[in-house]
Amino acid sequence: MSGSKRTDYRSVAMPRALWYHLYPGMWEVFFRSLGLSVVVSAKTDRATVERAALISEPEHCLPLKLHDAHLHGVVGAADVVFIPRVLSTLTEHIACPKLGSLPDCAVAQFGDETPILTIDIDENKRSVHRSMLELGSELGFRRNATRAAAAAALSAMKTERNGLKTCIDREDDYFLILAHPYILHDAYVSAPVFGKLDAMNVKWLFPDYGCESIESGPIKWDACGIMHDALLRLDAGRCVGVIHLSAFNCGCDSIVMEVFRGLLWEKNIPYMTLVIDEHEGRAGLDTRLEAFVDSIGWRNTLDNAV
Ligand code: SF4
Repeated sequence: MSGSKRTDYRSVAMPRALWYHLYPGMWEVFFRSLGLSVVVSAKTDRATVERAALISEPEHCLPLKLHDAHLHGVVGAADVVFIPRVLSTLTEHIACPKLGSLPDCAVAQFGDETPILTIDIDENKRSVHRSMLELGSELGFRRNATRAAAAAALSAMKTERNGLKTCIDREDDYFLILAHPYILHDAYVSAPVFGKLDAMNVKWLFPDYGCESIESGPIKWDACGIMHDALLRLDAGRCVGVIHLSAFNCGCDSIVMEVFRGLLWEKNIPYMTLVIDEHEGRAGLDTRLEAFVDSIGWRNTLDNAV
């Protein structure tokens, strides 16, 4: 933490990107329950993407670029900007290393303009609940107030997650969508895909990113491990295809894609990757989705005819 005394803070700002989407709804409720006013950057839109292109490193993955733009938008909007250092969101797994560097990058870039508030999130060492308790204590709040705020925050996140379309125990046919939560939950990035699938009357679901543990497997990155675990459990009789929305320049995805492809080949489930970047080329995306869905329909027709 840098800057003024912690107990001076009356308001906190957060960029609506990356780590923000890993714990949906949780951090706002935590800080508000402690009596702070909360400013979250506006939802991603064309202006956010244009700002990202101007200020972010061209080699960054799309979610990192968007985080830079959202962060730029909230500097000065509150007494302090909150950016947790996310090291792991799932026991026995680690987060993408890029998430761990975000607070330091923010200090390097905006440390002269705003204090940066941070806390380690590392499920291998302690639960996110305990991290919130520690943060509340660092901010100078009484233990009872922090406990109540943390409980309210976890409850809000649970409610938010209960509304998500996950593939647990599904009986009907569906397409599984793989993507990091910050891609799924950023409507500007994912809505064109979901909108197109809805327009084609395709049922789509995604893995349960809120699960607390998974079977130990070969992939040790947390979100990618959850995707892999979901693929291991897939019933080829129910899941008709898998669509992987990958961010341009994602190092983790570039490795796990080949693992996913091999696994789904063995299960005889069609797999397609769509690489998402900041360019608005929706026509190509629509064409690829139509071709994938249609080819699966033809394949099933041929299988039934044999
Ligand atoms: S996992 Fe991929 S998309 Fe996510 S921050 Fe890391 S490189 Fe970027």
